Amino acid sequence: MTDGVLLDLSGMCGLAGVDRATGRVRVRAGTQLVDLNRLLALQGLAMPNLGDIDRQTITGALATGTHGAGAGFGCLPSFVAGLQVVLADGSIVDCSADEQPELFEAARLGLGAIGVVTEVELACVPAFLVRAQERPEALATVLTHLEEWRTGTDHLDFYWFPHTDRALVKRNTRLAPGQDGPRLAAWRRRLDDDILSNNVLEAVCRTGARYPARIPALNAVAGRALSARTYVAPSHEVFITRRDVRFRETEWAVPAASVAPLIGELQRYFARRETLVGLPIEVRFGAPDAVWLATGYGRDTGYIAVHEYHRARPSSLLADVTAMMREHAGRPHWGKLHELRVEDLAPLYPRFADFRAVRDRVDPARVFANDYLRRVLGE
Ligand SMILES: Cc1cc2nc3c(=O)[nH]c(=O)nc-3n(C[C@H](O)[C@H](O)[C@H](O)COP(=O)(O)OP(=O)(O)OC[C@H]3O[C@@H](n4cnc5c(N)ncnc54)[C@H](O)[C@@H]3O)c2cc1C
Repeated sequence: MTDGVLLDLSGMCGLAGVDRATGRVRVRAGTQLVDLNRLLALQGLAMPNLGDIDRQTITGALATGTHGAGAGFGCLPSFVAGLQVVLADGSIVDCSADEQPELFEAARLGLGAIGVVTEVELACVPAFLVRAQERPEALATVLTHLEEWRTGTDHLDFYWFPHTDRALVKRNTRLAPGQDGPRLAAWRRRLDDDILSNNVLEAVCRTGARYPARIPALNAVAGRALSARTYVAPSHEVFITRRDVRFRETEWAVPAASVAPLIGELQRYFARRETLVGLPIEVRFGAPDAVWLATGYGRDTGYIAVHEYHRARPSSLLADVTAMMREHAGRPHWGKLHELRVEDLAPLYPRFADFRAVRDRVDPARVFANDYLRRVLGE
């Protein structure tokens, strides 16, 4: 949201250049990920990893530090090899690890504070297939095997239904060229992804919003509704899901070793049933990041996302989750709900002062400031 000027770059879209030999691709700023994935596939290329949805623009995803699942993968800004940025003084600057490296480090996850990114050079990979294995499990089983699955799975993602001991575990494996497997029948995709994951979930959430006391029972049903399935598909088709149910979300990056204790704390919290939550908690892992403001900076990271249906009655969920995560040096996702301020955030990021120094240099008059940036970066 803005209280002033909003730049809409949706007219600046598509690929500006492709080097198929190196996988380097230049993308215009307003390109939505859904279009980027399609354009890359036509070139025999793919993003190394993706988050859950593809409706964001590439630059919106980068500026907010979007990440996917996978202990071997950094956030999306870590796939950026170069940027073209329009700075506050109107100059158009190219930067990369070799050319203006400090500007590059700040601008590839820049929160919109450094300048207007107009073009991005991405280090892509040859298109690849992924084998998806999805299975309901008892939460206790997930926690027992967590470390083994975190390190032994290319992309581990699990959804735990609060107030229950049920989880849906997704284990995605990248296939080598020539490997393949059974595809998902169109009816099964429609049943699982459209009907159960969206239409039925919406109905369940609406019921829960009207009758909160029924949420634990509804979650128990939802936790068993999705059955096991294994299929193979192009990477972006496996990573991306359709999300029609509206929700509020807070997501925290914590040390990977803190995930199991935090799930334990959340279990005890939800067992008290003071706050009833009808949407699953999503847990993922990521590699230590080098991008200055990456929420996974410098540590093996676990991501814990807590969602609340948009019609749910106001509760203390955000504040309660924040308190738990902060005990474990949690860093909130820049593009999701959180209430941290500059004085809370600065100690969490070893390169925070470097980021602010670049901001001071390239935008001393604060052309790009807004309320959010004043809160998280200071005046
Ligand atoms: C349903 C859903 C699922 C999600 N799943 C994930 C997930 O799996 N993983 C994850 O990490 N995140 C996830 N997110 C968060 C998402 O990736 C983004 O962080 C968030 O939605 C903002 O992206 P946007 O396209 O709306 O960006 P915008 O609102 O367009 O941009 C966000 C900010 O980025 C800056 N910005 C945008 N474009 C530029 C530019 N050209 N130059 C400079 N600054 C710019 C601006 O400051 C802007 O305010 C999810 C969000 C939703 C709604």
